[in-house]
Amino acid sequence: EVIMARIRLLLLIRHQFEALKQQAENMRWIAATDSLTGVRSKRYLVDNGEEYIQNTANQTVWAMLIDIDFFKKINDTLGHITGDHVLAELGTKLNQSFPTDMVVRFGGEEFSVLMKNKTPAEAMKKAETLRKEIEKLKPANVELTISVGLASMQDHPDSNLTQILALADKALYHSKQTGRNCVSYNLPEGIKISPLHGT
Ligand code: GH3
Ligand code: MG
Ligand code: MG
Repeated sequence: EVIMARIRLLLLIRHQFEALKQQAENMRWIAATDSLTGVRSKRYLVDNGEEYIQNTANQTVWAMLIDIDFFKKINDTLGHITGDHVLAELGTKLNQSFPTDMVVRFGGEEFSVLMKNKTPAEAMKKAETLRKEIEKLKPANVELTISVGLASMQDHPDSNLTQILALADKALYHSKQTGRNCVSYNLPEGIKISPLHGT
């Protein structure tokens, strides 16, 4: 009887341990995921981004920043809830377009993508293709465009996560200044609009 009681207790402890482990796993997932868009959270980027860009075994990393053009107008004319639907659909689209990269909701209507294993030509093509696809996507039935900024670790060696994102942000600012709905690159010699623009 005593042995049976001990066995039952041990089984109970094991069951509770497994439940706790599962709960910890769920909490980790919740913290790592942005609940509205389904992409990674800013928290996840802060915790894992630095290691992601440094641990590349000679593959260069590209930082891409994406900002929706005139998003405030979408909220103002169609309402915040429609704005939320737009963000959610955009998140789904980004997860589909970059399944092996780190897609993050960087701020309100701004996303970042850390891409590995891309030549400059491939990275530029990828960004330009995304821009064109979003032009046609009509998330939540809303027509919208994005502006994009790109910077690579190859062009800016010794950058840390904050610095490479700041360089991509400068390129994004250039895209906004150049009329929006375009991709710009932060090269060592300066910021340029995508050579694929309008192709
Ligand atoms: P620009 O082309 O210069 O980027 O113009 P913009 O209107 O997109 O930029 P601005 O920064 O003025 O506006 C961003 C807006 O995004 C303002 C804010 O209310 C909205 N926003 C931020 N987070 C959310 C969100 O979670 N849901 C919704 N619906 N709106 C959000
Ligand atoms: Mg915007
Ligand atoms: Mg913005």
